[in-house]
Amino acid sequence: MNTITSEWKSVDIFTQIKEHEQVMFCNDEKTGLKAIIAIHNTTLGPALGGCRMQPYQTVEEALFDVLHLSKGMTYKCIAADVDFGGGKAVIIGDPRKDKTPELFRAFGQFVESLNGRFYTGTDMGTTPDDFVHAMKETSCIVGVPEEYGGSGDSSVPTALGVIYGIQATNKVLWGSDDLHGKTYAIQGLGKVGLKVAERLLEEGADLYVCDINPSAIESILSYAKKLGAGVKVVQGREIYQTDADVFVPCAFGNVVNDDTVDVLKVKAIVGSANNQLLDVRHGQRLREKGILYAPDYIVNAGGLIQVADELYGSNKARVLQKTKSIYSTLLNIYAQAETENITTVEAANRFCEERLEMRSRRNNFFTRNKRPKWDVRR
Ligand code: NAD
Repeated sequence: MNTITSEWKSVDIFTQIKEHEQVMFCNDEKTGLKAIIAIHNTTLGPALGGCRMQPYQTVEEALFDVLHLSKGMTYKCIAADVDFGGGKAVIIGDPRKDKTPELFRAFGQFVESLNGRFYTGTDMGTTPDDFVHAMKETSCIVGVPEEYGGSGDSSVPTALGVIYGIQATNKVLWGSDDLHGKTYAIQGLGKVGLKVAERLLEEGADLYVCDINPSAIESILSYAKKLGAGVKVVQGREIYQTDADVFVPCAFGNVVNDDTVDVLKVKAIVGSANNQLLDVRHGQRLREKGILYAPDYIVNAGGLIQVADELYGSNKARVLQKTKSIYSTLLNIYAQAETENITTVEAANRFCEERLEMRSRRNNFFTRNKRPKWDVRR
C-alpha cells in the first residue's frame, strides 16, 4: 500500500464534490494556468457557465467558489428553461497582471478536452476578448464579441429581466405592473444597473442611486436632467436605509446580511446581483419583515438566455421573447411561496428541483437514437 502524508489524509475530496458529476483541475506549467472546471449536473444538456479569474488565496477557496457557482448554474438553467446544465470554471490568478493569450489558449484546450460537456465564457475578471484566444482551441465558447459570431452585450437582456421582475413584484404588491409612482433604490450603476435606472426614469419612477464610480453617477444624473426626472444620490450604507418601495441591488452579492436585513425599510428586493442573500436565514428574516424577495437567479437570467441562444444561432427577438417569461415564472414562485407558507427562495428551489425531476424522467425514455451502438441497422 502507498503511504501518504497526514494532510492528504484529512482531505476528503469526494465529500466536498459529492453533488457534482465531475471536477477537473487544469494545470499548465508553461503558461502558468491553474484552473478548476466544475460540472454540477448535465441532466438537461451540456454544462454552461462563465469562467471567473480571481487571485484566490488558496485552492480550497477556488474550489469552494467553483462548486457553489456551478450548482447555482444548474438552478438558473432550469428556471430559465434552457437546455443546459450547470457548470463553472475558475482561473486562479490576478486578472490585472496574469492574463496572456497563451494562458487562455491553454484553458481553451482543457475545455475542448471535455468534448462538448462544458461551454463557457466571461464572468468576473474575464472579458469577451480573453475568450477570442480560447476560441482558437475550442468551439465550446459563448458570449464572444459580435464580430466573432457572439451575441453581444448580455447586460441588455439581463436588465430587461430585472424590469420584468420588478413588474411582477409590483403586480403582487400593488395590483399593477406599472413602474411609475414608485421609488426604487438602485445599488450599482454599471452595465445592468444603469440600463435599469434609465428605463425606470423613462417610466416616470423616482430613484435613489449609489455607485462608487463618479462617472456612473454623472451618467444617470445627465439622463435624468434630459427627462426632467428626479434622482437622489446616496452614499454607501445609506442605500439600505432609504424610504424607497423597492431595493434593486445591481453591484455585488451578499447584500442582505446581519448588518442590513434589519435596517431595510423597502417592500421588495429585485435586482441583478448574484447571491444577494448571505444565508438562507436572511430569506426567512425578509419574509418575517414582510419584504418580498425576488430570487436573484430567476430575475438575472436574461444574460444566460442570450448566451444559451447562441448555440441555436443568435436571434435577438427570440432572446427578448424568452426573457419575458421571467415575469410569469416569478409570479408562479410568489404564488407557490404564499400557498406553501415558505420563503420565495425555497419556492424557487423547489420549482427547479421538480422541473429537473420531470425532465430526468422524460429523458430516460427509450428513443431510436439511443439504440445500442452495435446495432448495425442504425
Ligand atoms: P458592472 O461591473 O458593470 O457594474 C457594477 C457596478 O457596481 C459598477 O458601476 C461599480 O462601480 C458598482 N459598485 C461596485 N461596488 C459598489 C459599492 N460598494 N457600492 C455601490 N456601487 C458599487 O457589473 P454588471 O454587469 O452591471 O453586473 C451587476 C451585477 O449583476 C453583478 O453582481 C453581476 O454578477 C450580476 N449579473 C450580471 C449579469 C450581466 O449580464 N452583466 C448577468 C447576471 C448577473
